Amino acid sequence: MLNIPEAVHQRYQRLKSELNQYNHAYYVLDDPSVPDSEYDRLMRELQDIETKYAELQTPDSPSQRVGGKALDSFSQVKHEVPMLSLDNAFSDTEMVDFERRIKDRINLAQGQNLTYACEPKLDGVAVSLIYQKGLLIRGATRGDGSVGEDITANVRTIKSIPLRLQGDDYPELLEVRGEIYMPRDGFNEFNTKAREAGDKPFVNPRNAAAGSLRQLDSKITATRPLEMCAYSVGQYQGDQKPDSHFAMLKLLGTLGFKINQHIKQVESIDACEDYYQYLNGLRDQLDYDIDGIVYKVNDFKLQQRLGFVAKAPRWAIARKFPAQEEMTRLLDVEFQVGRTGAVTPVARLEPVFVGGVTVGNATLHNADEINRLGVCIGDTVIVRRAGDVIPQIAKVVLEKRPQDAQPIVFPDRCPVCQSSVKRVEGEAVARCTGGLFCGAQTKEAIKHYASRKAMDIDGLGDKLVDALVDHELIYSIADLYELKLEKLINLERMAQKSAENLLNSIEASKQTTLAKFLYALGIREVGEATAQTLANNFGTLDAVIAATVEQLLDVEDVGPVVASHIVDFFRNPDNLSIVEAIRNFGVQWKDIDQTAQALPLKGQTWVLTGTLETMSRAEAKDRLQQFGAKVAGSVSAKTRAVVAGPGAGSKLNKAQALGIQVLTEESMIEFLDNL
Ligand code: NAD
Repeated sequence: MLNIPEAVHQRYQRLKSELNQYNHAYYVLDDPSVPDSEYDRLMRELQDIETKYAELQTPDSPSQRVGGKALDSFSQVKHEVPMLSLDNAFSDTEMVDFERRIKDRINLAQGQNLTYACEPKLDGVAVSLIYQKGLLIRGATRGDGSVGEDITANVRTIKSIPLRLQGDDYPELLEVRGEIYMPRDGFNEFNTKAREAGDKPFVNPRNAAAGSLRQLDSKITATRPLEMCAYSVGQYQGDQKPDSHFAMLKLLGTLGFKINQHIKQVESIDACEDYYQYLNGLRDQLDYDIDGIVYKVNDFKLQQRLGFVAKAPRWAIARKFPAQEEMTRLLDVEFQVGRTGAVTPVARLEPVFVGGVTVGNATLHNADEINRLGVCIGDTVIVRRAGDVIPQIAKVVLEKRPQDAQPIVFPDRCPVCQSSVKRVEGEAVARCTGGLFCGAQTKEAIKHYASRKAMDIDGLGDKLVDALVDHELIYSIADLYELKLEKLINLERMAQKSAENLLNSIEASKQTTLAKFLYALGIREVGEATAQTLANNFGTLDAVIAATVEQLLDVEDVGPVVASHIVDFFRNPDNLSIVEAIRNFGVQWKDIDQTAQALPLKGQTWVLTGTLETMSRAEAKDRLQQFGAKVAGSVSAKTRAVVAGPGAGSKLNKAQALGIQVLTEESMIEFLDNL
């Protein structure tokens, strides 16, 4: 050790201890503390030191060990054929070196070609499955390569793992190896649900797969969306063993295993490079994470000649893709107000290259997510960008927290309009209560206001609303009534005739109903049906405005969340002044007579099913609602009547089974006319 500089020695010890610590978090706790890219960089540094100062290396070096230790909570199994890791290549040059080493070893002229199997490197957990006489008898994790964990009960719950091999031509004993992984859709869905429930989401699909597999209760594993893809064979006792890797994969396919659809056999290292380009281009569109490509010498005899080094075969290499997780610093958090008033924290990051692009922002979802991550401004964080999902902060690297890290404070005022920000109990999202007044929500509010089921302003489509707001001709829905022909015709692609038509339809829309107007205001969670119920119950707009939460809760179908949205909306003086201005411009409706005579169907629930012939379903619904009925989408014992047109199916059957009155369209019209 005399020749080794002290600084190198110290660095080496430090790397060893850090990597051991990271291995423990990754393999044992299924909760990595740093991204793979950082781990790989440190491992490379360690290997470089070991290459230069071979005497430093001991058998317990992280560079010489496969994976982690098998957990005691599972029974342990010994692998007859060790389950190894793979060497990595991070560049074309390293691929060329890989081939040169092989050719040297088997005495193949450098100009001659070798056949390789190319496979996506699925980012999940390695598994060994043993089949005896065609039956699955054991499933195990890799563990430290020689001893793994018995997870038979858990692997049995994964549908893509055959419990019995297909056909009757299979080897006596077969050990299949493959990757168990969680597809991205399943992962994103799982994490969304976990966040909503206040549980801890997984950092990435690999950890999700590992955590799901190592459940002591296999019923939990069964609920996780896991898949398994086979990629090699450990033990094979039987006749007709294929003589190449690719042929073996084909055989596994016929025995009932899922084989990745993108595998390819190629004839040279240049073709491997083409495959790299091809798969890297496809990466974002795949429904599962891959972190690279595994290239394997195809011929089994050559594989045997090449053999193994400490923890990996010489005949295979993992060519890594650019990382999908990286470390960077959280510089600041900004709060953006979306079109529906949702206030979303957005992380401003020190730009970092991840998932193939430079990322400077990431979503922080909501206040719960900030708390769950425990993230502060100034922290080092793991950013994940996979597929076309927006970049996320997966984790905080706590060891790197600076002393001056600042807590993130969620604003209680909207950063756009200064209205108060409110979070309804039980909801994750905080929203600006500015409604019609908030600039961030203007366009959406106007589009909704003009839509067919609301004020039905013909000719005022989404693009025109965008143009009107962008050109500052309107700032709120009330401004629609002050639009002038001269200004309108100055807009691009707005002819005199269409401008006149627009003004006419704005004028015509002034005659409306209270329900439509309430719906048009775009109060959160107040859809058409709720607006109609409110109109029927309160009769006038002033009564709705004055309603207290208690009064609103008395209304059928209005729960505490809707009630608080309504009250918040009308308590906001800016919203009120817009409503007042609109009334002054002449928007009007007939107040609703609330006597039983006027609302003879009050308290009744009707269902429409099948095709209606003389009116649209929306019209039929409108008419029923005007008489006080509620129109529901499904039949239950509480349904008063079902109107069934041609093509009616299950709803009609259910109504008949429950003995509910069924009307034709014609008889409904007649019934309503006579009310
Ligand atoms: P590896 O993941 O680089 O490669 C070996 C594994 O690849 C196999 O065990 C198998 O599970 C998998 N694989 C996927 N598709 C395959 C295919 N078609 N054919 C063969 N194998 C396939 O090696 P490893 O030893 O499992 O893990 C080391 C890597 O894990 C590191 O490079 C690092 O990125 C990551 N790691 C990260 C941390 C961390 O803290 N973030 C800690 C430890 C390890």
